[in-house]
Amino acid sequence: MPARIKAPRPRAQRWRLAIQIFFFVLVVLVATTTALKEQGVVLPLAGSASLHAICPFGGVVSFWQLATLGTLVKKVHESSVVLAVLGLLLALLFGPVICGWICPFGSFQEWLGRLGKRMFGKRHNAMVPRGLDRVLRFLRYAVLAWVSYMTVVTGKLFFQDYDPYFALFNFWTGEVAVAGFIVLGATVLLSLAVERPFCKYACPYGALLGIFNLFRVFGIKRKASTCISCHACSKACPMNIEVESLTAARDHQCITCLKCTSEAACPVPATVELATGPLDAPADKTARAPTPDGAASEGGQA
Ligand code: SF4
Ligand code: SF4
Repeated sequence: MPARIKAPRPRAQRWRLAIQIFFFVLVVLVATTTALKEQGVVLPLAGSASLHAICPFGGVVSFWQLATLGTLVKKVHESSVVLAVLGLLLALLFGPVICGWICPFGSFQEWLGRLGKRMFGKRHNAMVPRGLDRVLRFLRYAVLAWVSYMTVVTGKLFFQDYDPYFALFNFWTGEVAVAGFIVLGATVLLSLAVERPFCKYACPYGALLGIFNLFRVFGIKRKASTCISCHACSKACPMNIEVESLTAARDHQCITCLKCTSEAACPVPATVELATGPLDAPADKTARAPTPDGAASEGGQA
């Protein structure tokens, strides 16, 4: 039997993996440094590094208190506010790249998903009934509203007790609440069956960044006039977005992972790209691409 040769990872995906590993290792180092400091061991160059200081969401939930009282929520550092602003600017340009390229908890779920693919094969990421999945995806906006409101009312990092990211990188410190461990455990188990379940259904920061997909400058664009309706782009999307039926993926769940692009999944060059403006010339906007069986596919936005 001929040996199967694994296709090389596309360049953008190699960069993405390298960046994901970099930030994952960085957060592990920061968490370890903080724990050692609490034991009286101060490493050179470690300074005042802490997970709270590098968390942009801490800055986001501090915006209200900063604007009204001029102070930060307890435990939040100035650096978090700077990172929060940078994160929003990045999202304005490219959508939630923080989710797809940087967030160590997103990467953690993605890596668990690889194990899930081996366990469940084609059923992986296709088990939640479509109707239920569609409703659940709006849950994260309720979480965002709840966490923002409670942070304003309490003046402390309310989400910490429920945050699986905090639980993962602090599980040995005694600072993690039971609820944090429960959410972390549920996320680990669900990640084996569903791609990025916490990102899809519960992450308040992902919810905020996802809104930027509606008006981001550089978007995921599909050229309807060259598409052969092979479904490869939709199959590759971890967030289950039907790229094949869109001319611009404005779905609030896109994480800019670029897995659907012509460099990665789409077999037709320059047909799915990260770009500004439409890929089709104005005259082609209504173009219907021929399918292998002679039918036609329509362009649209979501
Ligand atoms: S639409 Fe493309 S870039 Fe967006 S999440 Fe899906 S695969 Fe990634
Ligand atoms: S955009 Fe590319 S991958 Fe998606 S259906 Fe068309 S040809 Fe296939």
